[in-house]
Amino acid sequence: MSRKGGSFLPTEYSLEIAELISKILDSEFCKEETELLSRELHERYFDIIYKIIGNDIEKIAFYSQSMRSVSAFAGKDFVQFDQQIDFWLFTFCHMITILACKVIDDDEFEDIIKQICCNLNIMRNPYLHEKNREQFKPYLFRHSDCLELSHAMSRAMIVFILCHEVAHISLEHSKVKQSKESEFEADALACKFYLKIIEHKHNAGIIFIHEKLLFSPVILMRFFDIFER
Ligand SMILES: [Zn+2]
Repeated sequence: MSRKGGSFLPTEYSLEIAELISKILDSEFCKEETELLSRELHERYFDIIYKIIGNDIEKIAFYSQSMRSVSAFAGKDFVQFDQQIDFWLFTFCHMITILACKVIDDDEFEDIIKQICCNLNIMRNPYLHEKNREQFKPYLFRHSDCLELSHAMSRAMIVFILCHEVAHISLEHSKVKQSKESEFEADALACKFYLKIIEHKHNAGIIFIHEKLLFSPVILMRFFDIFER
């Protein structure tokens, strides 16, 4: 198994941004807690997902790292998740939320479309991440009123991606050649897992998905569809 690369780590700079966002959203901020959470965020997501859906599934190892692949992958008994997917999806979600929900002028509309294209380019060149992250930052603050929706939507998408990878393991897809059919089969089972998580409501803790965000995986498929064109 390839496990190159390290992890995205919280820095003074990133924690300052997190604190600033908390202030804008009028929510409590604890630096130590945020720092700890950011170090093990996806592991915590996976633990809860596994607790909710893992009843009949053998133990699965989970590796979350920065691998510059913008992808997730399932082997026979492990899931490998590139942390870069997280910010990549969040950027998309935030941009489309602005486009769908806000009244903006033509110049900003064009800028946002350009930023979405830059985000698509990250799939081809993951090393553009740092540059794009800086370009994205003004939209984060200027349209912080979209954050509640864009953040929740991207969390739902990450949960679905992890469900999809667990589904591959549950369906023993490591024994078959990868195909469109096996992907659809994994999506179908992932939908069942995803619904189970939604049914858990607040008992799902930090992976709580509001039922109004049921549609999030459909938008996720549209992102991939746009990229593949
Ligand atoms: Zn797959």
